[in-house]
Amino acid sequence: MLEIKSFTFNPFAENTYLLYDETKEALVIDPGCYEKQEKGELLDFITKNDLSPVKLINTHCHIDHVLGNAFVKSTFDIPLWYHEEEEAVLQAVSSYAANYGFAQYQPSKADHYIREGEWIKFGNTQLLSIWVPGHSPGHLVFYHEESASCIGGDALFQGSIGRTDLPGGDHETLIRSIRQKLFALPDEVLVYPGHGPNTRIGDEKETNPFVGKSAFS
Ligand SMILES: [Zn+2]
Ligand SMILES: [Zn+2]
Repeated sequence: MLEIKSFTFNPFAENTYLLYDETKEALVIDPGCYEKQEKGELLDFITKNDLSPVKLINTHCHIDHVLGNAFVKSTFDIPLWYHEEEEAVLQAVSSYAANYGFAQYQPSKADHYIREGEWIKFGNTQLLSIWVPGHSPGHLVFYHEESASCIGGDALFQGSIGRTDLPGGDHETLIRSIRQKLFALPDEVLVYPGHGPNTRIGDEKETNPFVGKSAFS
């Protein structure tokens, strides 16, 4: 059975996710840990639960989601995967990290580019990669059908959507991505976003002021 553990790290209050199942294999998604204490919190949980991370993946590569990439990659000697269109987004982080107060930022690079429709496998679990551009060009979400859950990054939030004023962002594209891709998932699917609390697809279809019914009536 899939277990989803969330951590909230760094001054952006970014949600980092650790997914694992009965095999104890684990997947790290968007590690935002930067401070020693944050890295320790992630490590402690992995050690106490006897987990073996096998892959590191990014929904997208804004600074708040990748601060811990190099740390996780080197600590567990695991490959880093993300969408090819996030390559420039990730490499740009080195140029501005210090301005945001992250002078100790360590860069990282992809070992594999995830394509839309590709399955992300660990243990007995597999997640479907769905391309949801708009907040950033290569933004992916990861859907687990059996448990009706979706790691959503910064596309759809409870009562909101991702910002689109950063390089590579596009508001119309994001609206279309959410309505065509995310709203095609079953209503009961629980979205685990990059910031803030979880929400259900059905609830956002009803009430989200940017992409829900009210926005188009
Ligand atoms: Zn973002
Ligand atoms: Zn974010």
